[in-house]
Amino acid sequence: IENGQTEGERAALPQPERVTEVRYTKIFINNEWYNSVSGKRFATYNPATGVKICDVEEADRLDVDKAVEAAKAAGKRGSPWRKMDVSSRGRLLNKLADLMERDRTLLAVSSSISPYTASLSSELATKHCIAVSLEYFIFAVKPIGVCGAIIPWNFPLLMFVWKIAPALCCGNTVIVKPAEQTPLTALHMGSLIKECGFPPGVVNILPGFGPTAGAAISSHMDIDKVAFTGSTEVGKLIKEAAARSNLKRVTLELGGKNPCIVLADADLQLAVEEVQRGAFFNQGQCCTAAARVFVEEPVYEEFVRRSVESAKKVAVGDPMDPRMSHGPQIDQRQVDKILDLIEAGKREGAKLECGGCAVEDRGLFVQPTVFSGVRDHMRIATEEIFGPVQCIFSFKSQEEAIDRANRTQYGLAAAVFTRDMDRALSISSALQAGTVWVNCYNALHVQAPFGGYKMSGNGRELGEYALAEYSEVKAVTIRLTEKP
Ligand code: NAD
Repeated sequence: IENGQTEGERAALPQPERVTEVRYTKIFINNEWYNSVSGKRFATYNPATGVKICDVEEADRLDVDKAVEAAKAAGKRGSPWRKMDVSSRGRLLNKLADLMERDRTLLAVSSSISPYTASLSSELATKHCIAVSLEYFIFAVKPIGVCGAIIPWNFPLLMFVWKIAPALCCGNTVIVKPAEQTPLTALHMGSLIKECGFPPGVVNILPGFGPTAGAAISSHMDIDKVAFTGSTEVGKLIKEAAARSNLKRVTLELGGKNPCIVLADADLQLAVEEVQRGAFFNQGQCCTAAARVFVEEPVYEEFVRRSVESAKKVAVGDPMDPRMSHGPQIDQRQVDKILDLIEAGKREGAKLECGGCAVEDRGLFVQPTVFSGVRDHMRIATEEIFGPVQCIFSFKSQEEAIDRANRTQYGLAAAVFTRDMDRALSISSALQAGTVWVNCYNALHVQAPFGGYKMSGNGRELGEYALAEYSEVKAVTIRLTEKP
């Protein structure tokens, strides 16, 4: 049972919605739906078929201004949101989770991902507002104010919730800009936010493009914090814009080139399966993708053989078909980037074991691809591919593996496979990454902090660490005796 509920409580939840048509295509401000100020709209497509789904209103700077006014008003002194205590905010978040559960079919269709278990909100609701009273001091934890959230297309629903849940739990108001490729899931969430009773202006959702709506958020003088997930390149632009405007707080969750170290004593089949799932999950469009697999020499050949055998069995096709496990890439630009890197891998001398091209006549589908004999200097070993490409390297010694694993500008995630827990701990401690998995991959939990070292970003999401990123701490000093 998810979310700590009993069977009975779960049975009482609203039943799943089966309707799949698109209902929300406008800008969401103050719990109302608006056309864009400019009158512009943009098209959104189904990547599995290439067919246009609908047009969506295109937010720009003036719409951002309008949303900021709404968000400021919603959070001002005396407003219903400002007066609401943390337990009531937690209850609203739990209600939102229940509505997501009811609409899970629709949300999964909008985003082509598995339904999300929204236990995050109840987790966070209990943790906010620590008021510690000492003899002289009371520490008060306050919301930061208006928080911008700029999110990517690879996990449209997950990223939406990872950003808004801690922000709202801490009493902030929020302006979300979904990625231009995936606006519909976020807009449906707007309807649920209204339905479950968040006061107007607390959450505002602006579909639009990065250099216009996104840049307007990161440079806005009245936005107090921006949280971003996406490419390292855009992360730098956002931090620059924040520095040039009002020095707003910035948290960044950026790319990765995540190493997995497989030692000779590992459970080899487990390692093959976990690492490959990590490489191909969400068609490789994942910041934690298992991108560089270092395998100790004695088991290297066998690891490659089993990985190729397993990659050939992956069922590629429409994600709405339950027999398929591997869907399309998000758009042609990403397919071109992936194919270009695969060509570079071949040219630079890596051995293409399987896959290596788009699936014929099916546009945006790329075959699960395995390269062996990859060398550290190659482009496929250094650049984030964001596609279903597994790169396998061999190594001789543990120290060499750690050294090569850390030789990257990124530091998001890493993994170690071994039966020797002493070695697992010593390697985990040496790896420069915000998350290290031992004998597993992509095992995320709402209570475990998530974020990157180095150019994979700043700050942490999830659990208590996320609350700190959305709180302002004030030390109020009060004399408790009449005479000091
Ligand atoms: P991106 O970083 O350009 O887009 C992510 C979000 O940032 C989108 O909402 C976009 O509109 C916004 N954005 C773009 N330019 C902006 C700007 N100047 N100011 C403010 N916001 C801006 O990612 P992409 O172009 O869609 O993908 C390119 C590459 O980025 C991918 O191939 C992949 O390597 C990486 N990526 C990483 C993640 C991740 O989860 N870390 C997610 C998506 C993409």
